[in-house]
Amino acid sequence: MATYRTGVFAPGVPRPSSPLRAPGRLNIFIDPNQVTVINVGSMIDGTGAKPIEKAVVVVEGTKIKAVGQQGKVSIPEGQHVQTLDFPNGHLLPGLMDSHTHLMFGVPGKSYEQVIESDTDEIMLLRSIGNALTHMKSGVTTMRENGARNKITFNLREGGNRGYVTIPRLLLCGRPVTMTGGHFFWCNQEADGVDAVRAAVRELVKDGADHIKIMASGGGTAITSLLQPSYTVEELTAIVDEAHNMGKPTTAHCHATQSIANAVEAGVDMIEHLGFNEPDGSYKFYPHVVEQMAKQGTYLSPTVQTGYRGRESLLNKKEEQGKKFSKEDQVRLDWVAAKCENQLAFLGRAWSEFGVQPIAGTDAISGFGDYCIGLELMSDAGMSNMGVIQAATGTAAKAMHVEDLTGTVVPGLEADLIVVDNNPLENIKALRKMTMVMRGGERIV
Ligand SMILES: [Zn+2]
Repeated sequence: MATYRTGVFAPGVPRPSSPLRAPGRLNIFIDPNQVTVINVGSMIDGTGAKPIEKAVVVVEGTKIKAVGQQGKVSIPEGQHVQTLDFPNGHLLPGLMDSHTHLMFGVPGKSYEQVIESDTDEIMLLRSIGNALTHMKSGVTTMRENGARNKITFNLREGGNRGYVTIPRLLLCGRPVTMTGGHFFWCNQEADGVDAVRAAVRELVKDGADHIKIMASGGGTAITSLLQPSYTVEELTAIVDEAHNMGKPTTAHCHATQSIANAVEAGVDMIEHLGFNEPDGSYKFYPHVVEQMAKQGTYLSPTVQTGYRGRESLLNKKEEQGKKFSKEDQVRLDWVAAKCENQLAFLGRAWSEFGVQPIAGTDAISGFGDYCIGLELMSDAGMSNMGVIQAATGTAAKAMHVEDLTGTVVPGLEADLIVVDNNPLENIKALRKMTMVMRGGERIV
């Protein structure tokens, strides 16, 4: 029987950030004395506080220097000061995507087709484009939830050296999965408590900021989302090892049993919350969700993956008419039911149990449409302010980078966006960016 170093990370006890490296830090090559003064019609700071009308944000180098109402903040003067005026604009923290797969983004191809046809080098090049596309849609921080080998570690290194302009990356590197499990071709298969502990150690050595666990099968060949992958003992060992190194954990969970196992093991975030029953039906388990709320387990519902799949099949059906195959119709019915159930589960977890959802795209087929997921969260019954926090301040807390980014607070990095319309009135306002700034550097 393994001895667990448990007890330190009891529910509700704040976890230290990584002792090994500071996640999400960028080496940005801008003049530390450069000052940008941004005047806007209103500012939502990402903490859930009331917006400030006629606000000003002063950025010095990469950081936010001062925030407040125009006229009440002292504005630096001189040649090194530039001013940006958006009198009708709404300023928010840069958006955070808690779940991406940068090496994909090849619409119309299955995982396996991409894995077989593309080298790591091609995937790395595609990742650069995907990351940039996503950043232009306002995403200044991405939590990467799984790529093959060292693709994302190399991507981050390239960004830090200034070779490419990309968002802040929080990396899992490769997901920990059982032999033949979901995403096994990323090359981090591990079975049994000793092997999963070793996998966590190897990933942290490579530079992982968090540990992604495949706790059930998914939409990949030879795996099933109706079945759990890991035992509670294996999951507990992963969580214990990760927490010992100051790393948060997140688990991909479709099968009901996988959710129950991951929650019991104390995983910090549940992805998808499928509640897929062994017979293919769906069933919400209130006591499991109640336990998530008690433990402070975050939920990354990734509702837009199914939405995207449904849209592309609906488009195909419209194009093909009577030629639309029976298999495609079965897939369409399946994905439509999945979408509907996931939205309902998200709505209940949020409104009845107070579980905190975090925005994440699970971007696989496409990048740059981050806002769709926010719109679906709003459709599920979340308030617009709740959705904004799920995409900014609360997301930063869930990913352990709240001391770095996620809110418009002096001392944090200047990751900021400006949009023309008020997202508190209509969340679709976040579809179009007027300005995107990452670490004081204007991208859009
Ligand atoms: Zn994923």
